[in-house]
Amino acid sequence: MRLAVTDRCNLRCFYCMPEEGINYLPKSKLLTYEEMLRIVGILATMGISKVRITGGEPFVRHNLTDFLYQLKAIDGIQEINLTTNGVLTGQYIKALQDIGIRNINLSLDTLDPQRFFEITRRNEFDKVYKTLFDLLDADFYVKLNAVVMEGKNTDDLIPLAELTKNYPVGVRFIEEMPFNGAGANYPILHWNQRRILATLQEAYPHLQKITDSPSSTSANYQIPGYQGTVGIIAAFSRTFCGTCNRIRMTAQGELKTCLYDEGGLSIRDLVRSGMSDEQLKDVFAQAFRSRAKDGFEAEQRRSNRVTESMTTIGG
Ligand code: SAM
Ligand code: SF4
Repeated sequence: MRLAVTDRCNLRCFYCMPEEGINYLPKSKLLTYEEMLRIVGILATMGISKVRITGGEPFVRHNLTDFLYQLKAIDGIQEINLTTNGVLTGQYIKALQDIGIRNINLSLDTLDPQRFFEITRRNEFDKVYKTLFDLLDADFYVKLNAVVMEGKNTDDLIPLAELTKNYPVGVRFIEEMPFNGAGANYPILHWNQRRILATLQEAYPHLQKITDSPSSTSANYQIPGYQGTVGIIAAFSRTFCGTCNRIRMTAQGELKTCLYDEGGLSIRDLVRSGMSDEQLKDVFAQAFRSRAKDGFEAEQRRSNRVTESMTTIGG
């Protein structure tokens, strides 16, 4: 389960939101921590064992670490992972270790501070870069997420892949998706998985395919002799839908059984209307049964085209 704990963010990545930001939801529309704990508790009885915390930027929400302690204590929740932009993360490393979080995905699209500014519209490269090494020093399993964008960061593919030489990091290149909060601007995918792979293969002719975990969204490779791995996430081409077992809870408490579906089922409203745990379980089970077979079907079923920002969905 991917749980977006807020829609607020301290960066303005252009592929995620417009420069002026999005209209953040009023606080009353966001799930409270208590509501999130109840929802995860119910889902844990239905077989959810792994929760990824995302957002918006998770650390922008107050008292996140207190919430994570409580989440970890839920029966059946075996693993909590986190996706973060790394701006505020450094100060919480000790707390994350104490909670027992081991896996962190850090979003970093470039190793060039000026390009970082152009992409995120904020001057925070140094903090994020330091966070990467602080996390590695603290023995976290770190994956780097880099969205590949024509005219922005394609010169970074090889420098990012080179990080895997000396560090046990998983660098994952993500196809750009249309969730930029500016609906009219559906990106033309110049850099699909095949082009990303061809670029890596050109630089590393001996690139080796390695085994992917059963529900992995990334196709993973290793450069011989390097410590880390490189992966490609075909998020736009949607080639991994057959093995995807994720569900999403957006910041406003809508259930999504596919990233590309319209959402719309407000678990928040059902919780606030006084539904019992058993009734909520039935709602979840019904939604899981009618899940689209893949991201294309989910997108086709929508009544409106994609206009939302990834900051409300959580990636
Ligand atoms: N703020 C945190 C961060 O950036 O890591 C967590 C939320 S962010 C929405 C989660 C992931 O979604 C990030 O790795 C980000 O790069 C990715 N993402 C956002 N918009 C995207 C888009 N239009 N296409 C592909 N990936 C996107
Ligand atoms: Fe913020 Fe993450 Fe979206 Fe960038 S991708 S604007 S860091 S939520």
